[in-house]
Amino acid sequence: MVKFKFIYDMENCIGCSSCAALDSKNWKMQPNGKSSLKDSKEIDAELFEKEFPEENLDKNLETARSCPVNVIHIHKDKNKII
Ligand code: SF4
Repeated sequence: MVKFKFIYDMENCIGCSSCAALDSKNWKMQPNGKSSLKDSKEIDAELFEKEFPEENLDKNLETARSCPVNVIHIHKDKNKII
């Protein structure tokens, strides 16, 4: 089965709120001004991962593309889509 996931580089988030405005189910602004990826796993310092179902791919691509500093990435299995 194909697996999709976010990889989120929180360290370089500039806190524009675009992701949280587009998709409040996955993204939430924090008091420190950066966004958080809800229910994600920290895989390295300030680097987070979260799997999601294929049916959410278009929506999640839209969110990733809205990030002005490209810190939201999406992987299909081991390949980076964005
Ligand atoms: S869209 Fe990017 S820069 Fe803006 S809050 Fe979300 S992760 Fe941070």
